[in-house]
Amino acid sequence: QHQAVAVTGGGQGIGRALVQYFSRKGAGVHFIDTDPEAGREWEEKLRAEGGRVWFTRADVSKEEEVRRWMEEVDAREGKLDLLCNNAGIMIRKTVEELSLEEWNRVLGVNLTGAFLCVKYAVPLLRKTDQGAILNIASTRGLMSEPDTESYSASKGGILAFTHALAVSLGPDIRVNAVSPGWIDVTPWQKTYAREPEELREVDHRQHPAGRVGRPDDIVRAAAFLASKESDFITGANLIIDGGMTVKMIYEE
Ligand code: NAD
Repeated sequence: QHQAVAVTGGGQGIGRALVQYFSRKGAGVHFIDTDPEAGREWEEKLRAEGGRVWFTRADVSKEEEVRRWMEEVDAREGKLDLLCNNAGIMIRKTVEELSLEEWNRVLGVNLTGAFLCVKYAVPLLRKTDQGAILNIASTRGLMSEPDTESYSASKGGILAFTHALAVSLGPDIRVNAVSPGWIDVTPWQKTYAREPEELREVDHRQHPAGRVGRPDDIVRAAAFLASKESDFITGANLIIDGGMTVKMIYEE
């Protein structure tokens, strides 16, 4: 029987790459995004190459939209093997300038959104013997640049949410996090979106692994954490950052 996979924020970036990977593996892939153009374009492209892919425009922070999306997945598949909580946003403002509304928006998408998707996906994940949840956190859950409080707090929350869920949902469902470092997503933005980010030699060189990350670095980890190969791994946080968080830096 084929795998059923659900991905949030699958229209662009890392989510787009995740949707492509599982589609090419023959899974039924169900993804949401708040950007209907990006989502429909991606659904169309992957269907043209034979993918079994369904896009729904939905916002992870809206309970009704998430509930309806999971009803659709249930109607199409009757089960779910993997939920990938990937949708995320960032606002950079000083803590004095950040409004309560902005703080709530970031937490609402990055953290509450993951909660809502889990809440409505768990009954479906229980219908297989290999149910797994993968939360996309960030190395910013562990360390920070200035003026990123809401984002960092949401990612720290995702890491704690991950270990709490692993304890509650085991042994039926495994729950892990991946913490990406700097991932260049420009080749995975919809074609009509932003200017490509110009990566410099120093950007690559500052990584112990010798380069800035790419979405497929995260995809390969997701593939592993979703597979039976990792059946003793739950509650883990896999840091995928080319070594940046273990690199000690002193001022020049
Ligand atoms: P991206 O902005 O390229 O893509 C995110 C996608 O999510 C977009 O298509 C966007 O429309 C969608 N989205 C935003 N809000 C949504 C909502 N409320 N509901 C549904 N969809 C929504 O971002 P990305 O770089 O691919 O990031 C994906 C995940 O990886 C995020 O959780 C991000 O925090 C995390 N991450 C990224 C990096 C990086 O360097 N790119 C590093 C660490 C962590």
